[in-house]
Amino acid sequence: MPEETKVAYFSMEIAIDSRMPTYGGGLGVLAGDVMRSFADLKVPAVGVGLLCNKGYFFQRIDNERGQLEIPADWRPEDFMQRMEPKIKVPMGEKEVTVQCWKYDNEGQNGFSAPVLFLDTNVEENDEESREISAYLYGKDLRYRLMQEIVLGIGGIRMLNALGYSNIDIYHMNEGHTAFLIVELLKRYNVPIDESGLETMKEKFVFTTHTPVPAGHDVFSKDMVKEFLGGYLRDEEIDFLCANGDSTKLNMTLMALRFSHYVNGVAKKHAEISRGMFPGYPIDSITNGVHHVFWASKPFINLYDSKILGWRKDPCLLRYAINLTDEEVMKAHDKCKKKLIDHVNRTKNAGMDYHVLTIGYARRITRYKRPTLLLHDLKRLDSLNVQVVYAGKAHPNDTEGKEEIKKIVKASEELQNVKLVFLENYDIELAKMIISGSDLWLNTPHAPHEASGTSGMKAALNGVPSLSSLDGWWLEGHIENITGWSIREQVKEGVEVNDEEDAEKLYSKLEKEVLPKYYNDKEAWAKMMKYSISINGSFFNSHRMVNQYLVKAYKASNSP
Ligand SMILES: *Cc1c(COP(=O)(O)O)cnc(C)c1O
Repeated sequence: MPEETKVAYFSMEIAIDSRMPTYGGGLGVLAGDVMRSFADLKVPAVGVGLLCNKGYFFQRIDNERGQLEIPADWRPEDFMQRMEPKIKVPMGEKEVTVQCWKYDNEGQNGFSAPVLFLDTNVEENDEESREISAYLYGKDLRYRLMQEIVLGIGGIRMLNALGYSNIDIYHMNEGHTAFLIVELLKRYNVPIDESGLETMKEKFVFTTHTPVPAGHDVFSKDMVKEFLGGYLRDEEIDFLCANGDSTKLNMTLMALRFSHYVNGVAKKHAEISRGMFPGYPIDSITNGVHHVFWASKPFINLYDSKILGWRKDPCLLRYAINLTDEEVMKAHDKCKKKLIDHVNRTKNAGMDYHVLTIGYARRITRYKRPTLLLHDLKRLDSLNVQVVYAGKAHPNDTEGKEEIKKIVKASEELQNVKLVFLENYDIELAKMIISGSDLWLNTPHAPHEASGTSGMKAALNGVPSLSSLDGWWLEGHIENITGWSIREQVKEGVEVNDEEDAEKLYSKLEKEVLPKYYNDKEAWAKMMKYSISINGSFFNSHRMVNQYLVKAYKASNSP
């Protein structure tokens, strides 16, 4: 029943169903895991996102040209119900009509926390407007502003049209969603000025995800006036911009100003955010992943048979420490076989079930240093490993696309080590690569990784990480127990040097990882169990959502 819903969770991307390309990467997968945990934990919540009927993009790799981006083609009607109401949002001189699709999202007990996907592809709209909800992170800044107007203002109007009349908490997942504040203030007749600032705070919760200033959406005041001039008075726009550079509207600052509770997505990230936005009390709730969604079949079967109740209560994964080496290794071997068979079938790679397999897959972008492992190809080629890569680069990220070319080139140049780049990274591929690798590699340039979640998915499947000490790994890393660091934590003010980090990476592989893998299977199996027991039991979205309930949503009398 809509009127019983207490929490509205807004996110530009929501990865709710692996067959629906309504996400670009980690942010959307997190939103999907939040919604899955809401449903399991019977939190009366509704999600609001954009339909993305052309997806993020479908990725092809051409050996010469690198990444090719093809609009995704899919049928929303196969997965969702189209809802009756249509609403309009202001868009400069015109109005844009918005409809929505409802995804049921049933949890383990049959409780539903639905997700609404907003869609402007309706006949009432002109060609330009029909495309607003089509391409996730597509085109230019004007396009982004239009999308955020549909998401924030349109989302609130749609909730209203559908009868969601008792929402206590509006949770903004990243600044893209912050126009919802403006629409709600108007709806409740709260003035958009200094006197109104505190009035609605209790209703707003904000999660920030970006530790670099360039990652936050900023629109010029002129552009905002062009699109929202008929909707907001000049003084109101001035007030929204009156923070930092007064000629610009910064979506993150707007969300920060109006929210009673703000969190970063890991302890370190919250600390960095407090430095970036002084004066705001920014707490931390470290991300988590949905344990049943991200555990592979063999591990689900193992946990079902040995850890009673883990589906409802993933902190019971603590008792994975009592599993036998054999049963853990056996479950992992099944996952690994599935991955190697897939790689060999699709890439003619000739990979070996018995060779240490390193997995690296995520958004391909410079600060994550996807090619650190390839720094010295000769050195890499001397190691007894095989490597599986995957990931999309944002269409405008030329550096990221260069990295993909480098990886593809390395796959051709290596003589001994088999290395592949698998196309079109998505949730299903993520499940296969992460659970099938023996070692999960992550090499971000600290401190630029807000959290990272793929290493948490690895831990749930008994796969230890080798990673820079950044984001969640600062909390999940115990050297030689849950995995390895590449180097000691980078001190403030010290420049990270790729050359030096690559040296440390090779040396860690040569001296620690490979000897343990090949010569001490017992110790390796122990690390697998520690990964599940110490990290799987904590870095899950049930724990995260419970922290949201206790720390962020408690201010209101719900739920
Ligand atoms: C988990 C996931 C990510 C995020 O990976 P990180 O290593 O945390 O950056 C990105 N894309 C997909 C498809 C994922 O499943």
